[in-house]
Amino acid sequence: MGLAALEYKARFALHLRCDNCMRESILPLDIPQVDFAPSDIEELTEDAALNGLRYHCRHCSCTVGRIFQITDGVNHARF
Ligand SMILES: [Zn+2]
Repeated sequence: MGLAALEYKARFALHLRCDNCMRESILPLDIPQVDFAPSDIEELTEDAALNGLRYHCRHCSCTVGRIFQITDGVNHARF
């Protein structure tokens, strides 16, 4: 019945740069269908959820990453 389409409110791609090796990686971020959840990039950047983001560099295992860009991830086929 098309329930899958309602599973997420939005999908973003977080572009992070490792604080140690400076390599860049993309982290998919799905926003669940809940009240007050951010639905666009502007709202997302103001959302406290980003502060609790878990990051783990696959190249050097560093856990400190900085977000340098957020894009709309809906059309990212590589996820
Ligand atoms: Zn790294």
